[in-house]
Amino acid sequence: MEDHTLGLSDVFRLYCNDGGIRHVGYAPVSAWYDDPLVSSRIPEGSRPDDILPGAKSVMVIGVPIPLTIVETAPSIYYRSLYDVSNNHLDMNAYRISLELMDYGYEALFVPRDGYRGAEGLRNKPESFFSHRHAAYLAGMGTFGWNNMLLTPEYGPRMRFTSIITTAEFEYGEPIKEDLCIRCGRCTRACPASAVAGTDYPTGITRKDGCVELSVNLAKRGISPCGRCIAVCPVGRDPKTVSTDVAIGRIRSI
Ligand code: SF4
Ligand code: SF4
Repeated sequence: MEDHTLGLSDVFRLYCNDGGIRHVGYAPVSAWYDDPLVSSRIPEGSRPDDILPGAKSVMVIGVPIPLTIVETAPSIYYRSLYDVSNNHLDMNAYRISLELMDYGYEALFVPRDGYRGAEGLRNKPESFFSHRHAAYLAGMGTFGWNNMLLTPEYGPRMRFTSIITTAEFEYGEPIKEDLCIRCGRCTRACPASAVAGTDYPTGITRKDGCVELSVNLAKRGISPCGRCIAVCPVGRDPKTVSTDVAIGRIRSI
């Protein structure tokens, strides 16, 4: 039975929990214009109300990806995890958008990967909507040197997707203190020397180097690379990783 004492934000948090989604945030569309970092990075055409005119909010959902599997990246194991977590997010985002429509709101889910695969990134190295920036505005994390959104719970090992809607919620705010400890591990671990050793958004990852590596890995069925995600020490996720023997065996397949 529906609990009428709950506000819309909590109703949809519970709805997400039912679908196996524990991490949920809400950002107001106005923040795409008011927040200095986001307004400087996200161009016209890629804001939520460009995609859904009249939109008031973006609901962001996130799922963790286990360090034990990320540690094997690049590998078929990480590739599979990438596909499964993306599908899980896309399915839930679609389900949530349908529920919002039942409540009488306009709602669109945004696909987890809004670009044309590794090859497509060569010509246009960006997606049409940034979930990272939406999650930042919803107060779910801060940017690291690796340009990923670092979360308190799992560092950069969380994937996000978004639902744009005319509904209004109780909104989060960007976390004020940087989670990145500027250890430089991501910079040193990058096989393409693409990670700048400075704070985002001054330090932007060199996309051509990262994409070129990803295209080559895709030909072997083991993209994306993921090393800058694996090595980051931020997050309280379980630090258990496979043995070197297991990692070597997984990477050899
Ligand atoms: S995914 Fe790999 S190539 Fe791309 S920035 Fe991270 S470490 Fe470098
Ligand atoms: S590896 Fe270190 S420098 Fe890179 S994002 Fe994580 S905390 Fe920041």
